[in-house]
Amino acid sequence: MSTISTKLHDVEATIRTAAEGAGRAPGSVRLLAVSKTFGADAVLEAMQAGQRAFGENYLQEALDKIAAVAQAAPGEAVEWHFIGPIQSNKTRPIATHFAWVHSVDRLKVAQRLSEQRLPELGPLNICLQVNVSGEASKSGIAEAELPELARQVATLRNLRLRGLMAIPEPESDPVKQREPFARMRGLLERLRADGLELDTLSMGMSADLQAAVAEGATIVRIGSAIFGARHYDKGNA
Ligand SMILES: *Cc1c(COP(=O)(O)O)cnc(C)c1O
Repeated sequence: MSTISTKLHDVEATIRTAAEGAGRAPGSVRLLAVSKTFGADAVLEAMQAGQRAFGENYLQEALDKIAAVAQAAPGEAVEWHFIGPIQSNKTRPIATHFAWVHSVDRLKVAQRLSEQRLPELGPLNICLQVNVSGEASKSGIAEAELPELARQVATLRNLRLRGLMAIPEPESDPVKQREPFARMRGLLERLRADGLELDTLSMGMSADLQAAVAEGATIVRIGSAIFGARHYDKGNA
C-alpha cells in the first residue's frame, strides 16, 4: 500500500509532466491537496512530505481540523482553501480561518466575506465558481452572469478576486474532458481583456488533472489520488 507521501509525489510528477507536455513551466501549476473526510493525521503526513495548501468542503469538519493541525504543528504555515458550498449565514468562520475561497457564486456571499474579513489578515483570495455543465449542476454562476458578478466582487475591499473555479460533470474521454476547461480559459481571458487582474484557474481533480493542466489550470484540487478513497459515513457529508 502506498503512503500519502508516495502518492503526493506521484501527483506532483503527473502535474510536471502534464505542464511540460503543454509547453508550460512546471511551477505554473499549484497543487491543492483536498483533505475533506480525512483527519488531521493525514494532513500532517502530507505536510511532512512538503505539502502546505489544503482544500476543505465542510465547514465544521474543516474548523476542527484546522485547530488540530495548528496544535500538532504550531508555527507551521498552512494555507487553507474553502472549496465547498457556502451558506450565507456561515461566512464569518470562512472569512476568518481561510486564505482562499474557491466557491463564491453570488454577490451576497462575497459581500459578507468582505465585511467579515479582518483587515489585518490581508485580503481573502477569491475564485468565482462557474457552472460550466449547465443544468446538470446546481452550484456556480451561469456564464452569462459572470462578467457582472466579477466586476462587483472586484470592488470589495477585503477580498482579492483571483480568478475562476469549476467542477465539470465527470467525463471519461480525455479529449472531451478538455472542452469545459477550454471554455473556462476563454472566460478568464475575456475578464482580463475587460481589465480585471486575474491570475487563477482552479480546475482539475484526480480524474481530469491532465486535461485541466493542458487547458491552463493554475491550481489543481486533488483529493483521492493523494489520500485514497473517501468514506462519507462519519458524519462528514
Ligand atoms: C472533493 C473535491 C475535489 C477533489 O476530488 P478528487 O476527485 O478526490 O480529486 C476537488 N474539488 C472539489 C470542489 C471537491 O469537492
